[in-house]
Amino acid sequence: MKLQISSTHQQFLLAAAAASPDHEICGLLLGQPGRVDALLPARNVAADASRSFEIAPATLLASHRNARAAGQKVIGHWHSHPDGKREPSTRDAARATDNGQIWLIIAGGGIGAWAAHTVGAGPATFQPVVLEVA
Ligand SMILES: [Zn+2]
Repeated sequence: MKLQISSTHQQFLLAAAAASPDHEICGLLLGQPGRVDALLPARNVAADASRSFEIAPATLLASHRNARAAGQKVIGHWHSHPDGKREPSTRDAARATDNGQIWLIIAGGGIGAWAAHTVGAGPATFQPVVLEVA
């Protein structure tokens, strides 16, 4: 599986994560299957933002509405890992509920890209996605 992202968006994500070394940043990916068209940064409202993320509910609601109006979809989201690991954590796997959603994880100066695969109630598995930077 491949995902196209602009170098502008890639640089934005890397810079935002670098500017927040102690707390996870997060936001939503808008676009079409296989292509990121827009980034929607969100406030991380998790109780412990150094180890977890939770996208502000108001942002979630607004994003779905705005994306529909613009003919786009919420294809996934991004968050950062201050510990430098680009793989989804066990906490991430437990929380992934949407099959096929793209997870971008910014860590250690790079971006890991994954597609969530969920079956039943168990934790999700993640398949690597190849990022194509244009
Ligand atoms: Zn995570």
